[in-house]
Amino acid sequence: MGEISVPRSVLRIKKEAVIHNVREISKFSKKKIIAVVKSDAYGMGVKLVVPILNDLPEVEAFAVACPEEGVLLREMGVKKEILVLGGVFPEDMEAVTSYGLTPVVSDPEHLKAIGRAEVRFHVKYDTGMGRLGFLEEVIEDPRVTGIMSHLSTPGDEEFSREQIKRFSSIVTRYPKGLKVHMESSAGVIYRVPFTTHVRIGLALYGEKPLKNYPLDLRPAVSLEAKVISVKEVPAGFPISYGRTYITSKRTKIGVVAFGYADGLMKSLSNRGTLLYRGKELPIIGNITMDMTIVDLGDAEVRVGDWVTVVGEGRTFGDLARQAGTIPYELMCNVSSRVRREVI
Ligand SMILES: *Cc1c(COP(=O)(O)O)cnc(C)c1O
Repeated sequence: MGEISVPRSVLRIKKEAVIHNVREISKFSKKKIIAVVKSDAYGMGVKLVVPILNDLPEVEAFAVACPEEGVLLREMGVKKEILVLGGVFPEDMEAVTSYGLTPVVSDPEHLKAIGRAEVRFHVKYDTGMGRLGFLEEVIEDPRVTGIMSHLSTPGDEEFSREQIKRFSSIVTRYPKGLKVHMESSAGVIYRVPFTTHVRIGLALYGEKPLKNYPLDLRPAVSLEAKVISVKEVPAGFPISYGRTYITSKRTKIGVVAFGYADGLMKSLSNRGTLLYRGKELPIIGNITMDMTIVDLGDAEVRVGDWVTVVGEGRTFGDLARQAGTIPYELMCNVSSRVRREVI
């Protein structure tokens, strides 16, 4: 690979849009941002995304899932606080201490792992997420520098208010001056009065986490792939593995160098679309590992042209709706074969 090889698919991150989104989140929430960059920055690429975020004063800290991801950020030169969301084990402690990571403690076993080590840590509360966190037990320890909780259903106002109330009663049992955080991208709409930080992943990329989302976000990502063959087939012609699509008339088809190995979920077969200059091209037949076939209709698409998977006004969220999933899953699926660039 390297300079000599030319990519068949490219994911572009628009730096100015990411910066705009960070400022918009900061303006709306009036809180410092913990940028959540777990899982290779939601598949967008930490190597590209983190340098943009690291330069912004609104981003006070980062959050990752596991120590390995934290170490990678330190090796990239990140000096800001790095929260490790996914617990901590005895075998993690060397990385935690030598790279200055901040574990999140959600289980008595995590506390045991930390032992007497000189580290700061945050404590997580389960106020209705049903995943990680203590129910209400207060951890009295001078090394606690933050407390957090997580909303399970930010689209449900009544339940979210209930979670906020529960967290509030825990927060009041802690000393003042701690970092307190609960709101994710969708959660920011609640403007929780007693939190000091928001933990944001999805919204950084301009993806709206809710319908009627009040923030003015800009799409920050585009994803394009090359057309590697164009041809006309007669009526009654089968398309792709399993012959799940048969042409009803003479059809001009395009073969796009982007398949499920690149992140285009097979569930979009005969269901989703790609875009060419604003025109929707239906995906016909089964999506295969490296290629997807589209009905070109009367679009003047030629071999070597690029079609859009995400971009031209379409977000991962829009494509996710076609696939019956959430934007997070589609984003994390974009494989390492897809070239990534910042523009
Ligand atoms: C992933 C994650 C977030 C970020 O959520 P977004 O919806 O992407 O903003 C926040 N908090 C926790 C605990 C997470 O796991």
